[in-house]
Amino acid sequence: MKKIFWSTVVAMLLVACSAGAAKGENEKTQETEPADSSATEKVESAKVLPDTLTIAMCGDIMMGTTYPSRQLPPNDGKDLFRDTKDITLRADLAVGNLEGTLCDGGNSTKGSGPNSYSFRTPTSYGVNLKDAGYDFMSQANNHANDFGDTGIKSTEKVLDEQGIKYAGISGRVESAIVERNGVKYGLCAFGHNRYTLKHKDIATVKRILADLRPKCDILVVSFHGGAEGKDKTHLPQGTETFLGEDRGALRDFAHLCIDNGADVIYGHGPHVTRCVEVYKNHFIAYSLGNFCTPYGINVSGISGHAPVVEIQINSKGEFLQGKIHSFIQQKGVGPRLDTTNSVARQMKSLTESDIKNPTFTIDNEGNIRKR
Ligand SMILES: [Zn+2]
Repeated sequence: MKKIFWSTVVAMLLVACSAGAAKGENEKTQETEPADSSATEKVESAKVLPDTLTIAMCGDIMMGTTYPSRQLPPNDGKDLFRDTKDITLRADLAVGNLEGTLCDGGNSTKGSGPNSYSFRTPTSYGVNLKDAGYDFMSQANNHANDFGDTGIKSTEKVLDEQGIKYAGISGRVESAIVERNGVKYGLCAFGHNRYTLKHKDIATVKRILADLRPKCDILVVSFHGGAEGKDKTHLPQGTETFLGEDRGALRDFAHLCIDNGADVIYGHGPHVTRCVEVYKNHFIAYSLGNFCTPYGINVSGISGHAPVVEIQINSKGEFLQGKIHSFIQQKGVGPRLDTTNSVARQMKSLTESDIKNPTFTIDNEGNIRKR
């Protein structure tokens, strides 16, 4: 059971609430203010952040598609997050990557050939994301534009209706702020497609981070990048290419973000998991794989690995500890508990081979601890 504290110089007001109600009671907490305005100013200036903040992060989410044919889970997808939502609901901030669109019409921008994948999830499924506690979705990926502007605008409308923030499309929403329990989380997202904000466009990355940093307490960056497939689990040095595309120099990008003020980085795109790193006391997940993709994306073997990585950070955004929660996807069902912890063990193995001299350890249950 977690407690969230607010203290003030004026009233030494202490507000505590349980983790289960923490998100919902946020607004109530902020409305608790003294009668006169001068006291209000002092409350603001005396704001004390909680000692420990919890962030839950997930990879690709595409809850089912109506294109080119209906491939939808039972019960309107309401059971997809059954095994994972306890973690995302209790976290102060829960984030993922929306690998597709939330729309009911429009025309595919990719055609309908056998190797053409366009993802169109019914707008009525948006509530499933809210019910699972998600606060932010990245749009900077290779499926956000599957139904062009129609799809992008519909997706944004659905997320707005559910109170879920988003970012990542060039010329649309570059960044977002989520406020929870008095803490402001700044969020932005980068991808490799022409319509996304690109991780290889260093000037834009630096500009967005510089804009966001003074507006938030904790700065979280999402990226979609890297080559795809079961043989692409290792994080290379330098630039990766796939299908003739530059898919990013992801170590360099993640480090650059932290050097420019980011606190936490989460990646996705390869459709398999990759290593994690703690760089200058800040946490990076290089790929969280497929998380909730019941149709349209191969989930056999390690492609079905669907971790939720839950980390605790301090009020400066520095990594304290974490846990790789192991889930495995089943076709048509979504992520289900992996009692053998094979997902955590795979990410532990990849981390041990791909991160030199790590400042942390991962055990077979997925616990991440500083050395
Ligand atoms: Zn993708």
